[in-house]
Amino acid sequence: MIKELFSENKQLLSFEVFPPKKEEEFANAFLVLDSLAGLQPDFISVTYGAGGSKSKKTVEIASYIQNNLKINALAHMTCVGSGKEDIDAVTAQLKEANVNHVLALRGDRPSYMSDEQFNSRHFPHASDLTGYLNSSTDFHIAGACYPEKHYEAKDLDRDLLHLKKKCDAGAEFLITQLFFDNQVYYEFLDKARSTGISLPICAGIMPITSAKQLGTTVSLSGSSVPKKLADLIATYGDDPAEMRKAGIDYAIEQILDLKAHHVDGIHIYTMNKPKVAREIVSAIK
Ligand code: FAD
Repeated sequence: MIKELFSENKQLLSFEVFPPKKEEEFANAFLVLDSLAGLQPDFISVTYGAGGSKSKKTVEIASYIQNNLKINALAHMTCVGSGKEDIDAVTAQLKEANVNHVLALRGDRPSYMSDEQFNSRHFPHASDLTGYLNSSTDFHIAGACYPEKHYEAKDLDRDLLHLKKKCDAGAEFLITQLFFDNQVYYEFLDKARSTGISLPICAGIMPITSAKQLGTTVSLSGSSVPKKLADLIATYGDDPAEMRKAGIDYAIEQILDLKAHHVDGIHIYTMNKPKVAREIVSAIK
């Protein structure tokens, strides 16, 4: 059980992967996982396609992690386009696959969803999904949080009050959105603790290995880019090998500083790149 690992007073190491889009890509996805498993993470989380249409792929990858690699698998699950029956169906698939850790998320509003559909969704917030799963399953549930606040929230204080509801609904630990500025994370942590959020929080770190990746990441996550990282892109952005090295070094520096500040865990957004993960892990252990 992941929750118990935190109480062993160690800093957890975990990875995020995404499932392959096509059936023929599964063999390679398993090789990626085999390689990540060699780095002995405490858990590996598996993303979930918006709307749940590709949930079987998440279940299949999570099952491989849990049953073949014998590593705790944390399956992401979103509810924005789902009713109770849809959630029950994925729950049954996860149970059958022996996966019992779930990251309960609302998910982003899909582009096809009308205002009316969005406003009348069955589970309004991740806290509602958390409460439902907590009462209808024996899953261990995690939740997402946002050091720079969620993009829909008016301010961080309000976002944290909502986060507290997620915790009260039964989340056992939290994972942050990726961030590039540790100071932002430390301030978030102080505010979260003073809002009464005492759950372990894993710090989400994404190594940036190309200028293009930074652009996509920032537009998806809304995370701010400190001058130091912007300068790296300006200096090395046109040189792929140097940019890769500089991006990995930046992530290593961030993680070493977080570890020195005794964070509960480091969650690496691996982008399914085990070599990058390996270079980081060997530098931070
Ligand atoms: P919520 O916790 O519901 O929050 C969403 C917004 O609603 C926030 O602004 C919050 O302040 C507000 N809110 C919450 N509760 C209340 C309330 N009771 N009353 C009023 N307002 C409230 N997306 C995917 O599609 N697939 C994935 O696999 C995936 N994995 C992710 C993993 C992590 C670690 C993170 C940080 C995000 C991930 N996402 C994923 C993105 C996530 O789905 C989006 O950020 C989504 O917009 C919000 O999801 P949430 O679970 O944080 O929502």
